[in-house]
Amino acid sequence: MPKIKLLPENVARKIAAGEVIERPASVVKELCENAFDAGAKNVSVELWDGGLSLIRVRDDGRGMELEDLKLCYLPHATSKIRSEDDLLKISTWGFRGEALASIAAVSELIISSRAKEALIGGRIRVKHGKLLSFAEKGLPPGTTVEVLNLFENVPARRAFLKSPRAEASKVSELVRLLAFENPRANLTLSLGERETFRYEAAEGRLGLLAKSSGLKKEAFLVEEFEEGPYRLQVILSRKEHPFPTGRHLYLLVNDRIVKDRLLTGAALEGLRPLFPRGHYPALVLALYLPPELVDVNVHPAKWEVRFREEKAVFSLVRKCLEAMTRPKVVLPPQKTEEEDDLPLEAEPEAPWEGPVKVAEPGPAYQTRPLWEAGEVLALAPLGEEFYLLKDGEAVIFFDFHAAQERLLFEDLKEAFKAGKLKKQRFLTPEPLILSAEAFARLEEALPRLEGLGFEIEILAPGEAFLRAAPAVLAETAREALLALLEENHPKEPEGLLEETLARLACRAAKKRGDKVSPPEVKELYRRLKEKDLSHCPHGRPIYWSVSLEEVRRRLGRKL
Ligand code: ADP
Ligand code: MG
Repeated sequence: MPKIKLLPENVARKIAAGEVIERPASVVKELCENAFDAGAKNVSVELWDGGLSLIRVRDDGRGMELEDLKLCYLPHATSKIRSEDDLLKISTWGFRGEALASIAAVSELIISSRAKEALIGGRIRVKHGKLLSFAEKGLPPGTTVEVLNLFENVPARRAFLKSPRAEASKVSELVRLLAFENPRANLTLSLGERETFRYEAAEGRLGLLAKSSGLKKEAFLVEEFEEGPYRLQVILSRKEHPFPTGRHLYLLVNDRIVKDRLLTGAALEGLRPLFPRGHYPALVLALYLPPELVDVNVHPAKWEVRFREEKAVFSLVRKCLEAMTRPKVVLPPQKTEEEDDLPLEAEPEAPWEGPVKVAEPGPAYQTRPLWEAGEVLALAPLGEEFYLLKDGEAVIFFDFHAAQERLLFEDLKEAFKAGKLKKQRFLTPEPLILSAEAFARLEEALPRLEGLGFEIEILAPGEAFLRAAPAVLAETAREALLALLEENHPKEPEGLLEETLARLACRAAKKRGDKVSPPEVKELYRRLKEKDLSHCPHGRPIYWSVSLEEVRRRLGRKL
């Protein structure tokens, strides 16, 4: 009697899922790496009952278009590679298109997402691999994935899990690793309602290692080496602070955390003069190499990699760490103590552009061109935020605050670029009374603010006079400036100017509830139309239009 039978698909899927998704921590890893691949700047992880009842990962990345959202949970659905050749040059964290499918096979999965350029988002619910529902939904850009009742349909796997507390602690450990992987994103973990971990991109890997190991930043040496196609970034604690175990060793290959005995061995061997057996440093070893020199597709959860030139890599690592144990050698320029203090923004100018490249998103999800010729009528206010307009045959839901904000932002930007940001001098100086934090921010931002056309005279700690401000801000200048200074926003040297302008615009634009007159609304609309703008500086859409054609279709009057 023949004995071989092909397993039914649902069983096969559960088995495959088990390889990738072993426990709640594996879910968190896959979801965060997806968020990183989507270019998220902020990622938050929430865990309930150790992840057994709910895992929620929220990001502000580029999101998914509705068509992609409907596909993403299917096995082998990926936007990151297209052909076998691409396997040789992987520069994203994910590439197999199996994580969401695996999670979907063993839980109830809810994914809510809106692509950055899209006007509307959507939500899918999938249970044990089957799509339960799909609906369009108004959402902020980005993606939220919720995983409910993990392994409910795989009792054997569920039984194998540890207590919720132990699973939560595995997740905590993992989230730290994820922050090392992608130091460019802010990352938080909450267990139930309590936030237990927060990493901010400004800390960099050095700050993170210092915090994790309990040492001061000054206790570390930071160096970078380059040899042929390899680059190595090392953050190493000084010999005065040894640890009895290797639990503060972090190894990364192209920003992927790996557990590689040989690499660890090579590093420790190089460090032997400083750290004899039984003594371990706190160490981040980040190796960067062209993707074709490393195979990342050798482990189900991608914890291991295989190097094309194994020997070269190991001897390089050993040699570089050995060099760090010697008092000042000639190798690459040694950094000074002060430089050590700089947060290590672990984005070295990698020749391969860093591993956050994703296939270009497709054409933006847009409604039909809004700006057709036609008579514009301001019909009526709707709620406190919107105005209803009619343009030709389309009805437009118009967010006038967002519109004002965007136009102001454009004006500021244009004027600034042209060096024509006009100043307006106040007849009597406006007093600014600031909290200690805001005052510190003011001192730091003073040159930049002056560049924008502010003239500020510091009187005493916490007190200053505003003497002039960019004219475009008109009478809102003082309030906008105060709000900007009192708000705690992350410091990003690049983009800060734009960010500042966006915030100023936001503060100065009319707020929800403020009244606008119909002619004002029409004027805003006309200017947006002229400049072909559709989103506010934060990426929210400014309008939503429904054409007569759409109305006909919805009401069953299809032509
Ligand atoms: P992979 O990451 O290997 O491509 P996944 O199953 O993890 O496979 O995800 C499938 C696809 O779903 C991804 O390729 C990506 O296009 C999309 N996706 C998943 N998570 C996100 C997210 N947080 N933001 C944007 N797109 C996402
Ligand atoms: Mg993935």
